[in-house]
Amino acid sequence: MGIRIKAEDILHNRLLKMLPVLNFKRLESFLISLCIIISIFIASIFIILDNNASRLSLQRVREQAITYLDLINHTKRWNFDYGGVYVEKSDEVKSNIYLEKLGINPDIPCADNRVLTIRNHAIMTTEISRRSELTGGVRFRLVSYWPLDPANTPDTFEQKGLRLFSKEKQEYYEMLKDSAPPVFRYISPLYAEKSCLGCHRELPIAQGDILGAVSISIPVEELLKETRHTRLIILLSAISLIGFLTAITYFMTLRLAKDLKNAQARLQTMALTDELTGLSNRRQVMARLEEEFQRAIRLGESICLISLDIDHFKDINDTYGHPFGDFVLRRVAERMQGSVRPYDIVGRVGGEEFLIIAPASPSEEAVSLAERIIAAIRQETVTEGKVSARVTVSAGVAVIQTSDADINDLLRRADHALYLAKSEGRNRVCGP
Ligand code: GH3
Ligand code: MG
Ligand code: MG
Repeated sequence: MGIRIKAEDILHNRLLKMLPVLNFKRLESFLISLCIIISIFIASIFIILDNNASRLSLQRVREQAITYLDLINHTKRWNFDYGGVYVEKSDEVKSNIYLEKLGINPDIPCADNRVLTIRNHAIMTTEISRRSELTGGVRFRLVSYWPLDPANTPDTFEQKGLRLFSKEKQEYYEMLKDSAPPVFRYISPLYAEKSCLGCHRELPIAQGDILGAVSISIPVEELLKETRHTRLIILLSAISLIGFLTAITYFMTLRLAKDLKNAQARLQTMALTDELTGLSNRRQVMARLEEEFQRAIRLGESICLISLDIDHFKDINDTYGHPFGDFVLRRVAERMQGSVRPYDIVGRVGGEEFLIIAPASPSEEAVSLAERIIAAIRQETVTEGKVSARVTVSAGVAVIQTSDADINDLLRRADHALYLAKSEGRNRVCGP
């Protein structure tokens, strides 16, 4: 006996209400942010990969151009070192008219009536390039600031390259994806050598000056197709990875949150329930009493409190053992729960002490409820296995009074009434 609401109970109830309840809205925005961060992170990685792939293909075609440049320079040098090579003149093979214009006779008649005509490095390069172009291969040519052959006049790209050349800048290139067909264009400066000045003697150049450039165009349709294919694979991989990771993160976290919420709900129930009987525990009963007390005062309604205590319970334990005592406690709890109205509150507040809150209930109704409960318990023989016992309960009823300052006044009166019931011989109801 001696039920009093304690300061620690009030604090505990407040703490329970403050338990961080999982906020699914906040969790959802957290998850969305997390998924966005994952997506941005993966997208960044794939953008870097994609840029790298484009850079590598550009590097590849540039190296190809450099190889061609090397080959052209060697071929040109070979021709140069021989001072040009002579080929047999025919209907297809004509004399170089530009050499004639310079006053150089390009032809040599032979004793057998054949005529040989000179092929200098420039025309040789042009002719090889034309052959390569015909088979859809690389096109290359020598361009000059002062072309002898107008065909060697630099175009817009070549002019841009020639303008940019300096001692530091030895090459200029561009990937012209939108031209038809798409090409990689590469240009490298051509320096005037002593031997060049023979033909280009009227030009305002000295040895070592830039005379023109070697211009190379490499068809890149296949390379671009390959790059586009790689890019598509990269894009699809990125999308799949983002989808997979965000879905996994989203569902795993949501599942975890649901488990957490369930665990939290179970914890909350456990914190408010008496483990043995399944009734509300002392903490919960006191919280509900406080609520109902305030409500009754606000609405000017009645509220009754029934304090119940099993008689000579110690003897039951001593005679039949503690487990049977527990069985009796459960049975008594069932009886009480079965006798009350749905909105009455039944709780176990001590070892063999119970409390019933009967809101909006006049005192006669509460007394008759207590009478019904103790009569039902009195009449029953509690049996578990081979052990049987008769149990009685005493009850004290109290009703709210206008002078009550708080629930402790009400509890004190219910306690007192129970004390009377015990002292008057037990197995009875006293008060209010
Ligand atoms: P009274 O009629 O004056 O109420 O006598 P009583 O024997 O019922 O009261 P007392 O306070 O002397 O004894 C209460 C007993 O209840 C003592 C304690 O061992 C027992 N008890 C308390 N909690 C439990 C429990 O959870 N299970 C069991 N089996 N016994 C309990
Ligand atoms: Mg007791
Ligand atoms: Mg007792």
